[in-house]
Amino acid sequence: MPELPEVETIRRDLTPRIAGRTVAEAWVSPNAPKLVQGETAAAFCRRLAGRRIEELGRRGKYLLIRLEGGLTWMVHLRMTGGLIHLPAGRHGARGGCPEERPKGPLGFLRARFRLDDDSELCYVDLRKLGTMWLVADESEVVGRLGPEPLSEAFRPEHLRAALAKRSAPVKAVLMDQTAIAGIGNIYADEALFEAGIRPRKAARRLSAKAAERLHGAVRQVLEEALDDRGSSFRDYVDAEGEQGMHQLRVKVFRRTGEPCYVCGTAIKRIKVGGRGTHYCSRCQR
Ligand SMILES: [Zn+2]
Repeated sequence: MPELPEVETIRRDLTPRIAGRTVAEAWVSPNAPKLVQGETAAAFCRRLAGRRIEELGRRGKYLLIRLEGGLTWMVHLRMTGGLIHLPAGRHGARGGCPEERPKGPLGFLRARFRLDDDSELCYVDLRKLGTMWLVADESEVVGRLGPEPLSEAFRPEHLRAALAKRSAPVKAVLMDQTAIAGIGNIYADEALFEAGIRPRKAARRLSAKAAERLHGAVRQVLEEALDDRGSSFRDYVDAEGEQGMHQLRVKVFRRTGEPCYVCGTAIKRIKVGGRGTHYCSRCQR
């Protein structure tokens, strides 16, 4: 599912394509009743139409599409959501994203947004867990998020402080969006492998040195995934409908039973906080 590197890839792809454009028309499928939060889909579409897109931002796993007039269109892709941009002339003969049909990345169309250059932004979502808001105050949606792991301001001591007050497994804290923003199951497993730390270890029992290693590992893993344009284990595609490449370079995630690249020990799978968790019992202590 889309985590920080995937959402950031979509943000970077979409920026030159949609920034400066105006939303000409918005449509939300009646099949996606939970997509729009805080108002009806009809009200959301009405308020969105006619607005110019100024810039695209990101906070954790949220995409922030900032509009003229001080409104932000916020999107969370959850498990299987995706935003695909179709240039004018590239979309269906009837003009627009294809109708809903269960085939290909555009098969699960839940919303579409026609822009003033006749291109379209298509929102697809197999499981329909994704959400959108149109708000004047971004903090209503992202106000409780922890620090951005790739920002300059995120120092090792911030991670150490977040871990020190929690007795939960370190993996659960890494995935807690209020402790640190943007990390999900894939990059939590990968960062813990990189740092040589057992996912189940109690967060507050990590030494200062281990917390520092983990801080570096989190940044390294996210940067590498960004370079690979994200990971596509199942549904994730970028703004052109193409898969990322990082799933080919993971060290432990979904490699259960395969040999560790460092020591050859078979990668183990356990559950931590209800989530499938992968680690090397020799490299991670
Ligand atoms: Zn190993």
